[in-house]
Amino acid sequence: MARIVGAVCRLCRREGMKLYLKGSKCESPKCPVSRRDYPPGIHNTMRKRPTEYGLRLRETQKAKRAYGLSAKAFRWLLKKESARKGNTGVRLLIALESRIDNVLYRAGFASSRSQARQWIVHEHV
Ligand code: SF4
Repeated sequence: MARIVGAVCRLCRREGMKLYLKGSKCESPKCPVSRRDYPPGIHNTMRKRPTEYGLRLRETQKAKRAYGLSAKAFRWLLKKESARKGNTGVRLLIALESRIDNVLYRAGFASSRSQARQWIVHEHV
């Protein structure tokens, strides 16, 4: 199970929205998205008009980052859900929401999905 290491607040700033990756800090005024409302990096002011591909890429990255999935795991899940009957987008969202780390996070036991995943990995759940 791969996990995101490093500065996760950069990921939120890149997407331009709160992804709630850090637990209690996300609700506090210290959240970098509310303090610095621009993308990270030195060339952040040089953004061009997004293309259709760029818009779709950002949405994919948003889903991957919010649920803490690697590109490989996300691709595997997408392939599995597109093979099933019904709307692929809805099926994918149901699959993401029914992951055990997400269920623990949504139920309010864990403050973030990464914390819930650590509980699972260390067999506290
Ligand atoms: Fe994202 Fe939470 Fe960091 Fe705010 S504090 S930028 S919501 S991870």
